[in-house]
Amino acid sequence: MDAFAIKSLIIGILVFDFLVERILDYLNIKNLNAPLPKNVADVYDTAEYTKSQTYQKEKEKVEQFQSYFQFALYILLLTQGYLGGLYDYIKSYTETSSVFSQASFYAANLLFFGALFIISDILSTPFAWYNTFVIEEKYGFNKSTVKLFIIDKLKGYLLAIIIGGIIISLLLFLIQSLGTSFWWIFWVIISVLIVCMNMFYTSLLLPLFNKLTPLGDGELKNAIQAYCSKENFPVDNIYIMDGSKRSNKANAFFSGFGKKKKIVLFDTLVDQHSIPELIAILAHEAGHFKKKHIIQMMVLSVLQIGVYLFLLSLLIDNENLSLAMGAQDNSVALNLIGFGLLFSPVSSITGIMVNLLSRKNEYEADAFAAQTSSAVDLGIALKNLSKKNLSNLTPHPAYVFLHYSHPPVTQRLDAMGIRD
Ligand SMILES: [Zn+2]
Repeated sequence: MDAFAIKSLIIGILVFDFLVERILDYLNIKNLNAPLPKNVADVYDTAEYTKSQTYQKEKEKVEQFQSYFQFALYILLLTQGYLGGLYDYIKSYTETSSVFSQASFYAANLLFFGALFIISDILSTPFAWYNTFVIEEKYGFNKSTVKLFIIDKLKGYLLAIIIGGIIISLLLFLIQSLGTSFWWIFWVIISVLIVCMNMFYTSLLLPLFNKLTPLGDGELKNAIQAYCSKENFPVDNIYIMDGSKRSNKANAFFSGFGKKKKIVLFDTLVDQHSIPELIAILAHEAGHFKKKHIIQMMVLSVLQIGVYLFLLSLLIDNENLSLAMGAQDNSVALNLIGFGLLFSPVSSITGIMVNLLSRKNEYEADAFAAQTSSAVDLGIALKNLSKKNLSNLTPHPAYVFLHYSHPPVTQRLDAMGIRD
């Protein structure tokens, strides 16, 4: 394909994707007017349900505005060739001699990605800000402060520069030295990294943003330990995380492998639920481990990355792709971005399949919790969580099919036999 055909194809993909999303948004917003589902009626009153509907509509509006903005930006960048222009501009600065040397190759590519990261962050920050300090604030979720928001940003930048910088440098090095067979070595390295991330998330990454305190002795700890020993579920440590410093929204998760599993409970979760509800929530999380969902999802993402990298290897040397992005000649950085855009339909399709599997896993984990703790307690916990989080109780089935990793709460209650 020549550059013009590639560019047209990418624009066609973007337009198609944009239109599909608008239709889904329309259906989803329309579905927000549905009457209160029967099986949550015992915890919701009309005022609370109305509040959740207006909250969802307000959030949807901001998201829509953001996607209009992004769409316009992408079209502008592509039709005007600004991405290629930016790359050529940076490259001209990093060239020290007439030869495009090794050092300037790395400098140009890293600076280009750095510039893109900063520009896209500057453009998305107002939306994140509005979401946190206007909408979440209005509905009483926000606990974050301007100071914390900025500190989080700076820490995020630092992590992105260090981790992103290392990964991109490594990728560039492998492409330079191995040509198109870079893909499988990079795949092995990324896979090892993913496993390590999973293993050390709670001990290394999470403490950068939150404080984890071991759960003190008492009724809750006894109940958790009793459940875990009954189910022969090895747990190394139970932590309370200070989620309340950012938001009132609650969560819980397990991390680690084998005998080194850790349980992390948000302080907000512990405050908002009874002990039987908390045990039912933990039983659900334990279900994900017992049914091997965690390993399954990890293997799946490793395979997915392998396929992408292989496809990438087919295009990494394609000069026409760079030209389609607006550059003067072949560039690894632009081919990477062009690849991402060109293969977005492939990632959408794999995303749908992963969501499908993930929703099936949620039902399985619910069934495990019902079996080993109590369906009634889990039902109450789920209803209370939806109420507190002002969740969308009536998302459109098409929207759920494409975007939801968890089934809507009413369907989960249905599956557990909680019908009214
Ligand atoms: Zn789950």
